[in-house]
Amino acid sequence: DGVAYMEVRPPCRVMILVNPHSGRGQALQLFTGHIQGMLTEAAVPYTLVLTEHKNHARELVRKADLTKWDALVIMSGDGLLFEVINGLMEREDWQEAIQTPLGILPGGSGNALAASIHHYSQSPPAWNEELLLSCGFMLCKGLVSSLDLVSIHLASQQRLFSFLSLAWGFVADVDIESEKYRHVGAIRFLMGTLVRLASLRVYQGRLAYLPVREAPKRPQGTPVDSLLPGLDQPVPENWTVVKEEDFVLVLAIYQSHLAEDLWTVPGAMADDGLIHLFYVTAGISRPALLRLFLAMEKGAHLACGCPHLVYEKVTALRLEPISAQGMITVDGEMVEHGPVQAQIHPGLARLISD
Ligand code: ADP
Ligand code: MG
Repeated sequence: DGVAYMEVRPPCRVMILVNPHSGRGQALQLFTGHIQGMLTEAAVPYTLVLTEHKNHARELVRKADLTKWDALVIMSGDGLLFEVINGLMEREDWQEAIQTPLGILPGGSGNALAASIHHYSQSPPAWNEELLLSCGFMLCKGLVSSLDLVSIHLASQQRLFSFLSLAWGFVADVDIESEKYRHVGAIRFLMGTLVRLASLRVYQGRLAYLPVREAPKRPQGTPVDSLLPGLDQPVPENWTVVKEEDFVLVLAIYQSHLAEDLWTVPGAMADDGLIHLFYVTAGISRPALLRLFLAMEKGAHLACGCPHLVYEKVTALRLEPISAQGMITVDGEMVEHGPVQAQIHPGLARLISD
């Protein structure tokens, strides 16, 4: 029924941003080999843009005449979409700009959002080229739904927008350390996990969050961070302060998948209005931690009965690292190390998905 859709509407003009260095460096070949013909057949007019450097897409989208485009699609890993979303939110007309439908075609080594939207479409699991084809079909159909964004405040007062995850400790270290294995593709996360397990660390910090007690409300229109006090202020009284201060990892995630083969949040949806907060406290053994990650392939980690793993649904959180070691990532991209807080903005962006 993708064809019917195209008949009743003028053809959609799509800007497709390709990071030629993402993943194994084959994003452009994958595009010409698998997607180009599909778009031609579906009569979707598009313009291909190859990114030349980091933040190229961010700058381009910040200045682009958005009346020319019906959708912005990225063919890369999650990092390039992070650039596009932040470029849109940095515009003066961000309120309209962030309504531009966004699409993703998995071309990177970390394709969490692509794996998530494929999963939301209730199709059986798919990887690599099969996942790419699935996302290509969704792009041709052009159905749009809403996507939650999370606003993130860093110690330097910088504010970022995130569609996937905020991670600290084990997960963030694996993500960044495994970038040197990017040439092996998605399996880099498993390699990174094994390496980091061998020298498992404890990360000290304070964690607090606002638990969800009722179904989240729809957005009020503007992303004012009404739930967050200043980072220098104590957290409000209705927040839960975690007693433990020794962690192996803290992961706030708002999609189902953390990577193509890591089904982290079994019930998550793109616009459920929730931050799914996981943390693992110190004292977990290496085999138990490995078991959690292996079980995550089938979304079975919560059924492992691991006493060190905690899962909470929240709408806001704050993390204050005490020890200097460990990295913080937002959507898989490293950000400054220090106190950080976040709040969800339900349905702030729009996403091409089934
Ligand atoms: P991967 O999943 O392989 O990591 P990403 O899309 O996450 O792919 O991209 C990796 C990083 O490369 C991101 O930080 C992104 O901002 C950056 N980037 C985007 N375009 C380019 C480019 N042309 N050259 C180098 N880096 C780029
Ligand atoms: Mg990446």
